Amino acid sequence: MLIYNSQMHRKQELKTIEPGKVRMYVCGPTVYDQIHIGNARTFLCFDVIRRYLTYKGYEVTFAQNLTDVDDKIINRANEQGRTAAEVAEEYSQAFIEQMHRFGILDPDIRPRATREIAAMQEMIQGLIDQGYAYAVPSGDVYFSVRSDTSYGVLSGRNVDELMSGARVEENDQKRDPLDFALWKAAKPGEPSWPSPWGNGRPGWHTECVAMIHRYLGVPIDIHGGGADLIFPHHENETAQCMCNWHTALANCWMHTGMLTIDGEKMSKSLGNFYTLKEVLDKYPADALRLLMLQTHYRSPLDFSFERLDGTVGTLERLKTTVKNLRWAAKNAPEDGELNDPDRALTKAVKEATAEFTAQMDDDFNTAGGLAAIFSLVTTANTYLTEAGEDISMAATLRAADALEELAGVLGIDLSEKDSSGLPHELVDLAKEKAGYAGDDPEEAAQALIDARQEARKAKDWGTADAIRDGITALGLVLEDTAAGARLRKKD
Ligand code: AMP
Ligand code: ZN
Repeated sequence: MLIYNSQMHRKQELKTIEPGKVRMYVCGPTVYDQIHIGNARTFLCFDVIRRYLTYKGYEVTFAQNLTDVDDKIINRANEQGRTAAEVAEEYSQAFIEQMHRFGILDPDIRPRATREIAAMQEMIQGLIDQGYAYAVPSGDVYFSVRSDTSYGVLSGRNVDELMSGARVEENDQKRDPLDFALWKAAKPGEPSWPSPWGNGRPGWHTECVAMIHRYLGVPIDIHGGGADLIFPHHENETAQCMCNWHTALANCWMHTGMLTIDGEKMSKSLGNFYTLKEVLDKYPADALRLLMLQTHYRSPLDFSFERLDGTVGTLERLKTTVKNLRWAAKNAPEDGELNDPDRALTKAVKEATAEFTAQMDDDFNTAGGLAAIFSLVTTANTYLTEAGEDISMAATLRAADALEELAGVLGIDLSEKDSSGLPHELVDLAKEKAGYAGDDPEEAAQALIDARQEARKAKDWGTADAIRDGITALGLVLEDTAAGARLRKKD
């Protein structure tokens, strides 16, 4: 398998440190707000990379942090008159919930910065002891960039170039404008922890390195994030690892291209963003997945709702093909001799599977992988129209299974169970009206039906009507059938 290593600027054969095992880490979000679909693109790409490595037979250990202490969190808490811990907890949960909706697998290890203070302090002390970091009277601790002769290896910058762009801030006690904070002295009202350098909190660049060392061991096989993290975040991470443990942090660095709007990077600060939540409230998660995976992970991806609208139709076409194949198989006669068209379909299944793997083996070319899936869809649809009565159950089932399996590697679910068509807003409604705590529209529908039934039994017509009104407002009807009540979309 070839993977593009950003540090080497070329594709390299994947050689894992331990045979058959991949240890990977992807920098997680700062939890101060809902994430936007640009962030989501990066997390999606690594979800698919992880799924594909698993499909290839690797045992993958995947870690991702939550940055739950940071200036942005503290500012948000101050604006809202809440504690930073409350803000971080709310948005950690919100992040995990949206990741689930988007079909992103949970990491095996999800460390949080505030729970890793001891590991970070130990690393910082190690850097101070070896002369790579220093504490200043204010209680800050800085990493001394010039003490690290290999600084700049990852991002390909040299220290003198960086110097010319560096800003010298007033009241700075840094010895060199390039130095970055490993530990920040506490300011009044901020969360802080005791340390050998006085009360304070960790700098952002410190947490991932300490966590990787603690949970995965260094070096790891793959370290990832968006391309905007290469400098300074990843450069600073690798510098700390190199200086403290005298080994590289990662053998392979993978970086995703930016999601843009009208050619401009989507970001909170520019205000040109859509949250993942608002998009998933309106569109099927797999349509957004499909749209994003049609572009190679390293290329920029310009987002628009017109494109997403188009992808909804593409996803439907994929699902309908699988449904039709299964339906045809159910109604097929006993298989007799295989005809030419049956053999052609079986051959197309083999070819699509081989092509999918070849594309994905080449630096996770999801666009090429999807093209292989679409080509099988075309062959399967032609087969269904042309084979008439005389179809082969085995060939059709094999095609349906292959489509589901290959799309499944990309995290796209083509099986019929996902076709309830119930909107995700039902979950919010069920939370409010039925005390539901999960994240599944079908379960939420059942919880609402049960809650309404209870209310009617108790002659609480107000509650029963409020539930029905909420359901109607979502464009759904509540049907009482012989088998019990159910929700369905209004025709
Ligand atoms: P942050 O919470 O800002 O640290 O971002 C979390 C992740 O999202 C990081 O890996 C960023 O590189 C990534 N990211 C931020 N903006 C974008 C974007 N517009 N497109 C793709 N990835 C992004
Ligand atoms: Zn990081």
